[in-house]
Amino acid sequence: MTYFNETVRLTKKYIEQLKTDGIADAVVSGKGINVKKIKKTAVVDKLKEKSHHNTVSLTGLAEEIKNCKKCPLHKSRKNAVPGEGSSKAKLMFIGEGPGFDEDRLGRPFVGRSGQLLDKIISAMGMKREDVFIANIVKCHPMIDPLHPDERGNDRKPTSDEINGCIGYVEKQIEIIKPKIICALGSVSATTLTGIKAPLGELRGKFHDYKGIKLMPTFHPAALLRNPNWKKDAWEDMKKIMKELARE
Ligand code: SF4
Repeated sequence: MTYFNETVRLTKKYIEQLKTDGIADAVVSGKGINVKKIKKTAVVDKLKEKSHHNTVSLTGLAEEIKNCKKCPLHKSRKNAVPGEGSSKAKLMFIGEGPGFDEDRLGRPFVGRSGQLLDKIISAMGMKREDVFIANIVKCHPMIDPLHPDERGNDRKPTSDEINGCIGYVEKQIEIIKPKIICALGSVSATTLTGIKAPLGELRGKFHDYKGIKLMPTFHPAALLRNPNWKKDAWEDMKKIMKELARE
């Protein structure tokens, strides 16, 4: 991105923030800066309107995902898993793809990994409904698609599947505009950062995703297999909490 583009982007972001804060106009003169405030109720109405608009957009997108047949994963799925949570979430968790339980219920992170993620969210002082949880691909990638009823039939999505599906999560991020994205696991981390590196090199620090802070960390399934990684994962969560507290 050129210096000019970056300046324009930051200026737009600043003006949007001023509007959100209730500033309608600002006049700069020799006597200083006079700001004209919008009535508080107008700001609240605007925020409510935005929240309603986000919910409607996310619902429409979820319907599109549930009917999607863009890649072969649709053939073996029981349910597509669009994602769920708050349309105003400041924090989004993005994993790699649904597993057996998620495919059954059409909801993200509901198996053992999901229970651990719920505990992590709770330890961060939030509820599951406060955040938005999604995946890079929306249908369950299976080793053997002829046996969708068997557990342990999970695999990582291929790059073709990721490329076919990535537009959906990109759109979700665009609608929600979270302050922070937490990429769970290597597939999510490498896809969203665009850096092909081991998770160990990516995690623990913020990256940039289109102006949003992105923290890669371990997938909860990896933490269940390697409980000694939980300490490092918690350090990553603490960095997220610190950043969220900086309003
Ligand atoms: S994985 Fe994504 S692109 Fe493929 S069928 Fe499911 S929703 Fe469509």
